Amino acid sequence: MDTVPTDILGPLLQILERSKIPVGPDRLRRAYDFAAKAHGSQLRLTGEPYVTHCVAVAHILADLLGPRADETILISALLHDVVEDTDADLAHVQAAFGPEVALLVDGVTKIGGLHFDRPEWEQAENFRKMLLSMAKDLRVILIKLADRLHNMRTLHSLDPIRATRIARETREIYAPLAHRLGIARIKWELEDLCLKYLDPDAYNDLRQKVQLKREERERMIEDVMRPLVERLGELEIKAEVIGRPKHLDSIYRKMEAQNRKFEEIFDLLGIRVITPDKVDCYRVLGLIHDLYTPVHERFKDYIATPKSNMYQSLHTTVVVPGGSMVEVQIRTSEMHQTAELGVAAHYVAQRRVAIHDERSRGVHGIPQDFALSGRGLRVHTPRGLEEIAAGRDAA
Ligand code: MN
Repeated sequence: MDTVPTDILGPLLQILERSKIPVGPDRLRRAYDFAAKAHGSQLRLTGEPYVTHCVAVAHILADLLGPRADETILISALLHDVVEDTDADLAHVQAAFGPEVALLVDGVTKIGGLHFDRPEWEQAENFRKMLLSMAKDLRVILIKLADRLHNMRTLHSLDPIRATRIARETREIYAPLAHRLGIARIKWELEDLCLKYLDPDAYNDLRQKVQLKREERERMIEDVMRPLVERLGELEIKAEVIGRPKHLDSIYRKMEAQNRKFEEIFDLLGIRVITPDKVDCYRVLGLIHDLYTPVHERFKDYIATPKSNMYQSLHTTVVVPGGSMVEVQIRTSEMHQTAELGVAAHYVAQRRVAIHDERSRGVHGIPQDFALSGRGLRVHTPRGLEEIAAGRDAA
């Protein structure tokens, strides 16, 4: 007997169709039925049937990976909690969905057993390394990040002590991990949610202030963007210009680091320009510096020198009429994908390279260009195999 209404799966099936994700709905429905049956009448603390969490995790991954998502990762996401939380064991999963799904579910289950509760940063770094080496497969980490994101989104249903513990673990382990893999979209949401639970007063205060000044800011951004868009048109440069909201956590960190009040943080305004190719990035930069006065120590060329997590972009801060400072980021649409999604932007399930593991060479599948090793993440670049720097660059 179905204890769970099957329409829970509806939104996921819709996104598969919309994003043209090559997954047969039948296999997915079978995995859903398996999870729903295994979790039975279990409820989340939010009061919803447990399986809604499993579907939410698959949904986050489908959103993140878009057409690059594959059946294996989505089915594994649906089943990610059955071994840990139900009577179903790995043999059941393997018999029903094959060894690859079983491998991923096993990886997520093992990582789920690890908890980090030490405050020291170096310990956190070691913990992240252990997590990466245990995961063996990048897909395990992606499922775990999606899992953590959904748990953070629903953290309000937990008692404050547990909520604080999970938020701290997220801030020390999972947000930096997302950052290291370049998945900015998940990193930012995790960090803002951590702030919400770890410093609720600051979070609410900031949210209110940002909200208050919103209209003023939007008008200002409009004023800055208009001449730029006109000039782009005259020069026939195809570029998309968008206003960019700043994340609460980044404002918070800036205030803390510089010991400033909200009113003293000048570059709350952001603009992003997306161009079709690299040469246009530099043309746009010239154009912006021609229109507005650049703050000279604020210019960074991450296109010529990408960050260790592959991030590429030009950054400049300019002073606009009225004296406000606006931070501008300029990048190609391809760089933008990488900036938002990191490794997930390069996730191609069908083309894999082997894991470069210290102990065993060439084990489980990993998306092209990326390999996990005991020491961290390695990326195949035009310059060869490069290790992603482990360190505090996450802050
Ligand atoms: Mn879970």
